[in-house]
Amino acid sequence: MFIRWIYKIIPVLFIVCKVDKYFAKSYGFFVLTNPNPPEAIIQHELTHCKQFWRYGWIGYMLLYRFSKTWRLKFEIEAYRRQLEIMPTGLEVIADFLATKYECNITRDQAIKLLRGQNG
Ligand SMILES: [Zn+2]
Repeated sequence: MFIRWIYKIIPVLFIVCKVDKYFAKSYGFFVLTNPNPPEAIIQHELTHCKQFWRYGWIGYMLLYRFSKTWRLKFEIEAYRRQLEIMPTGLEVIADFLATKYECNITRDQAIKLLRGQNG
C-alpha cells in the first residue's frame, strides 16, 4: 500500500491486490493495483482520479459507464499521460483501446487520438 498525491493536496491510496483483466483500477479516492505497478500505470490511474474530482464522483462514474464518447475521452487523456512516461507503448495501447473498452473505434483511429490528431 502506498500514497500518491494529485493537485498537490489530494491523497490517493494505492491498494496492492490481485486485479483481474486490467493491471489497475481507479476508484477516485483509491486505486486497486497489481503488485509493483510501473510509473506509467500509476500516472494513468492518477489521471482517472483527477477526472473523478473534476466531474464529481457520480458524474464521472455515470459518464464513464454509460457514455462511449466520454469513456473514450477519459481513457485517451489517461493513456496520453501514460505515453509521456512510456512512449514505446503506443501500438499496444491502441490495440487495447480498440478492443477492450467498447468505444467503437479502430486501432488506427486510436493511434490518431493518442497522437492528438483528429479524424
Ligand atoms: Zn484507464
